[in-house]
Amino acid sequence: MADLAGHVRTAILDARERDAAPMAAFFYDLDALASHARTVKAALPEGVELYYAIKANSDTPLLNTLAPIVDGFELSSGGELDRAEACRVDKPWLLSGPGKLDSELEHAVAMQVSAVHVESLSEIDRLAAIAHTKGRVQPVFIRINPALDDAFSTRLNMAGRASPFGIDEAQLPEAVARVDARPSLALQGFHVHAMSHQKSAERHLALMAFYLTRWPEWQALSRTPSSVTHLNVGGGIGVDYTGSDLFDWPGFCRALADQLDALEHRPVVRFEIGRFLSAFCGYYVMEVLDAKQSHGEHFLICRGGTHQFRLPAAQNHDHPVWHLPRQMATTGPWHDWTVVGQLCTPKDVLSRRQALKNPRPGDLLVLPLAGAYGYNISHADFLCHPRPALHYLPAHAPQRVTEASP
Ligand SMILES: *Cc1c(COP(=O)(O)O)cnc(C)c1O
Repeated sequence: MADLAGHVRTAILDARERDAAPMAAFFYDLDALASHARTVKAALPEGVELYYAIKANSDTPLLNTLAPIVDGFELSSGGELDRAEACRVDKPWLLSGPGKLDSELEHAVAMQVSAVHVESLSEIDRLAAIAHTKGRVQPVFIRINPALDDAFSTRLNMAGRASPFGIDEAQLPEAVARVDARPSLALQGFHVHAMSHQKSAERHLALMAFYLTRWPEWQALSRTPSSVTHLNVGGGIGVDYTGSDLFDWPGFCRALADQLDALEHRPVVRFEIGRFLSAFCGYYVMEVLDAKQSHGEHFLICRGGTHQFRLPAAQNHDHPVWHLPRQMATTGPWHDWTVVGQLCTPKDVLSRRQALKNPRPGDLLVLPLAGAYGYNISHADFLCHPRPALHYLPAHAPQRVTEASP
């Protein structure tokens, strides 16, 4: 894995200078985010769209950074609607997710979202009534839960088995007929987001091939197939947190281009990616408070913890840890350390077996790959610790946002 970039290190050390309290903070490198997103977008085959699934990280500076680059945003709640509206650059967005409120559907219809992804038969009826009342024709994608082979499975399957997401293929004719029957709805496409954490480009390509094989059958269910133009293939591109096995995105895109070229009638393919866009730009920094041994194991007890950065505990992995000593030239032995936070629970472990050279209280530990599903999936108020500081680099972005504890 790469080293800590010089400007991020400088920003971390500068922030520590400004604040005497032990550090627990997130740093987001917005230039790195923009450059990564441009690379991801540029590799896509001609005509394929890139939306950002903002649930991975919906902080306003990240959205403002991504908005000029991506084709749109994928939103899944009323709160996310508000975030997208606050964005400086107006981009199309779509509303998906289970359990949408009437108020959220009303908001989305009034805002003329590019699409609503309907996830159940009854949601089709509710949306149709709302769009009718507002005198609009709402573009709709039907989310499908296709029958999937075991070969496609990852740890976070969201389709191919019983799930609250989407509509089974067996019910699809009925769902399409219901949309077609409502003048206030226009079926524009289908949506499949079958899994998250897909680390194998090869397996993800097989999944794409499967969707594209099914596409003509799905499209043919409509009364007016030629108006059904889009296939949203979801997100789910994985990030290898513990190794250096980067998902081969350029290779994946080239092979996808070949798959699309082989089709007689290709759909407009749309990705809605979260993790793979925002993971790389974020760092969680913890200050070592104490170092101790217990029953032969070496522990580093650090400011903050899994209530601020729940990702490693949620995914059950040992997060990579970089050591920023307070005094350079530390001599002393290497040990394997277990890095924990301040919570009174044995689950507050960020990483085990990290070989570090003589870490001491006052040193900083930097946990990279913290830009997606980091702070925003955490339970920051547990034990009433202060919230972490959030820093957005470079300095022209809002520099420091410290949320008050409630
Ligand atoms: C979470 C989610 C995504 C993004 O998934 P990533 O694994 O972060 O790329 C995309 N679409 C839907 C419907 C989701 O629920």
